[in-house]
Amino acid sequence: MKIAVLTGAGISAESGIPTFRGKDGLWNKYDPMDLATPEAFQRNPKLVWQWYDWRRKLIADAKPNKAHFILADLERKYKDLWIITQNIDGLHQRAGSLKVIELHGNIWTVKCLECGVRYREEKTPLKEIPPRCRNCGGLVRPAVVWFGEPLPKEALEKSYSCTVSAEVFIVVGTSAQVYPAAELPFVAKSRGAKIIEINPEETPITPYTDISIRDRASVGMEKLIKILD
Ligand code: NAD
Ligand code: ZN
Repeated sequence: MKIAVLTGAGISAESGIPTFRGKDGLWNKYDPMDLATPEAFQRNPKLVWQWYDWRRKLIADAKPNKAHFILADLERKYKDLWIITQNIDGLHQRAGSLKVIELHGNIWTVKCLECGVRYREEKTPLKEIPPRCRNCGGLVRPAVVWFGEPLPKEALEKSYSCTVSAEVFIVVGTSAQVYPAAELPFVAKSRGAKIIEINPEETPITPYTDISIRDRASVGMEKLIKILD
C-alpha cells in the first residue's frame, strides 16, 4: 500500500514546540509571521537570528513524541510510506524515519548570502548573533523557506510524485493554510487516494476527508494504526 503523510507543526506540539497559529505561537511581542520573511531578515538579521537561536534551543531540548515514533514504525511496516513535512525541526528523522521530504528546509542548516555555501551549524546557543560564514565570514541565514520564497525544487517534485501515487494520504497537524503544501491533499484526492486527517481542530481539508480523527497527534496516530490494519 502506497502511503503519503503530510505533517505540520501540530505533530511536534506534544514535543513542546509551539505551532505558528496556535495560542502559544508568539514570541515576545513579535509575530513569527513578521520574522519568517526575507524582508525581516534584511531589515534586522540580528532580531531574526535571536528568534531562530531561541527556536533552535527549544528544538534541541525537545524529543520526538509518540506520533513521530508511530510514523517511523509504520515506515518499517509499509515500505512505500513517505513523510512530507513542513516542519524544520528534524524530529521525524530523530524518531527513526528515513523517507522524509523537508518542504521548508531544516533549522540546523545555514546558507551564506555572500558565497552561497550551505553547512550544518548545530551550536546552540550560537556564539555570535548574527553568525558569520565559516568559509568567507559573510552573513549566513537559516536554510529554511520563508514566507514569499519558493520551495526547494527537488523536495517539491518528490512530494508531488509521492502524492499522486498515494493510495492513502494522511494529514497530521497542519492548518493547511500555507501553499503549496496545503494543496497536496486535494491533489491526492483527485487521484483517488483515501484522505485521513488527524487534527484536534477542523481545517479546510476536513470536508474532503474520508476519515477525520479529531484528536491530538499521539492519540490520533494510535487510532490510525487500527484503521490501516
Ligand atoms: P500551523 O501552526 O499553521 O498549524 C498547526 C496545526 O496543528 C493546527 O491546525 C492545529 O489545530 C494543529 N494542532 C495543534 N496541536 C496539535 C496536536 N497536539 N496534534 C495534532 N495537531 C495539532 O502549522 P503548519 O500548518 O505546519 O504551518 C505551516 C508553517 O509552520 C510551516 O511553514 C512550518 O515550517 C511552520 N512551523 C514549523 C514548526 C516546526 O518545525 N515544529 C513550528 C512552527 C511552525
Ligand atoms: Zn560564505
